[in-house]
Amino acid sequence: MLSVINICKNVHINALLVQQIRYKSKTHWAKLKKKTSPKYKAQNHFDEFYGSVFGGKWPPMKETMLRRSKFVAVVNNYGDSEETIDFLTERGAHCLKALMSVQQEFHKQYPPTPTQSDTNTTSLEQYTAKVQFDDISSIYPQDNLPEKLELSDMTIRSSEEEKEVEKQPLKNLTLEESLASAQMDMSRIIDPSMGVTSEALYQYVPATQLKGMDEWVPESLHYSYYAQDKDFPLAIEPETEFSFPEHLKVYTYEMGSEWNMFPEPKRCKTNVMNYYPMDCGSVLAVLALCLSPGDRVLDLCSAPGGKALVALQTLLPDVIVCNDSSISRTNRISRIFRDYLIDFDTSNSWRERVVISTRDGREFTDDIGFDKVLVDAPCTTDRRTINQDANLVYHLARVQDRLSLPDVQPYLLTNALKLVRVGGAVVYSTCSLSPVQNDGVVHMALKHAFETHGVIATVKDLSAPFANLAGTLSLAAGSIAPRYGQLVTPTNDANFGPSYIARLVRVK
Ligand code: SAM
Repeated sequence: MLSVINICKNVHINALLVQQIRYKSKTHWAKLKKKTSPKYKAQNHFDEFYGSVFGGKWPPMKETMLRRSKFVAVVNNYGDSEETIDFLTERGAHCLKALMSVQQEFHKQYPPTPTQSDTNTTSLEQYTAKVQFDDISSIYPQDNLPEKLELSDMTIRSSEEEKEVEKQPLKNLTLEESLASAQMDMSRIIDPSMGVTSEALYQYVPATQLKGMDEWVPESLHYSYYAQDKDFPLAIEPETEFSFPEHLKVYTYEMGSEWNMFPEPKRCKTNVMNYYPMDCGSVLAVLALCLSPGDRVLDLCSAPGGKALVALQTLLPDVIVCNDSSISRTNRISRIFRDYLIDFDTSNSWRERVVISTRDGREFTDDIGFDKVLVDAPCTTDRRTINQDANLVYHLARVQDRLSLPDVQPYLLTNALKLVRVGGAVVYSTCSLSPVQNDGVVHMALKHAFETHGVIATVKDLSAPFANLAGTLSLAAGSIAPRYGQLVTPTNDANFGPSYIARLVRVK
């Protein structure tokens, strides 16, 4: 009997142990999954990077981005537009153009304080300095590190401090000098032949780091592209040509409104969809083009075609070339156009006005010159990246795409600056908060376009016209405002974005 009790006890204890082990292992795997899944990796990366750039403003932004995003409805002018407007108005939505006019009147009475600050890069400078410091630390053998080299030594100093520093020879090394004299750490170089699935690479090489064995760039140099050297003509002027296109009908719920979701679009009597739901930041990229009647437009990274569709809804462009390097994604452009433009497949008029092409935007050529070019660049797609695991740039299978972003973005914009005619405009946009992918790319491209092609463009400051969006969405202001573009930041009241929009007008 005793032995039966003992056996039972043992069985019970064993069962408990098994249960505990299972429980433990369950917890363990869940934790492991959490740590390794692409969206958590992205969140960790962003926590570190955006935490440095946006400080205390990042955690609430992240929290908002993890929630359902807000959309506006772009009314389809090729459907029953009056009926659609009635439907949207009855649901409590407002016309964006009207909201902007009201805000403009308000601003006339109570002028807003400027959003673009001259001293707004402190946190980015500090982050850049930290990255440079980390780079040098990793390249120098630890015991060769200059003893007192600290983060603060890498930040911008006053002239008094500069003199003091000059007395200390070790600290006088520039980054280039440091790199030139340093032993190269081969573990920090990507060999492209390693392919895309090297777990080691994924784990230890940040996306901002390197390009290829033959053309390697440490993080610090990548970040230093953002340095404010002005060895090329750089002018920032207020935008004065902005006007809301007469025929573009965008409907939105007010900030903080309880009503903020539109139902699924439906087919009109003309067999096309009644409206196109999209992020308001995406509409701003098209507004920033300042389209005029008869414009010849190039949408260099067009798929799936949302912004090109908005451009067509203004009824202004004569011709729009929708280009994207991905064949499968260009097929989506055709699908969307079929859904929204009457007889898209059969009408000669559309065939003349809409051209779909699949070329690498960096090598796109044209003999005539475009009036407007939109570069809606591939980027880290921040909102999707922290919410989804599948097929995004933080996915293991897409390491190479992520690493190649610094190679692609500035060259797309440089080519756009070449393709636009003198007097025409280029809009560069992303759905990332990264100052490197945003202002950093604009800076690099302006410099590169001047140095390699003699192209000069002026940055048009959109803060005045976009200030009229104050009742609709939130734009980064003060210390977190970009220098060249406008940044739509997600907030509880207006969960749009992130979207970055910069407008450049070619002058030479
Ligand atoms: N503008 C689109 C819209 O509003 O629907 C979204 C564009 S998405 C942000 C970026 C696009 O760039 C992707 O469709 C991608 O295939 C394309 N792309 C990536 N690299 C490219 C390249 N080198 N040349 C042209 N397109 C490229």
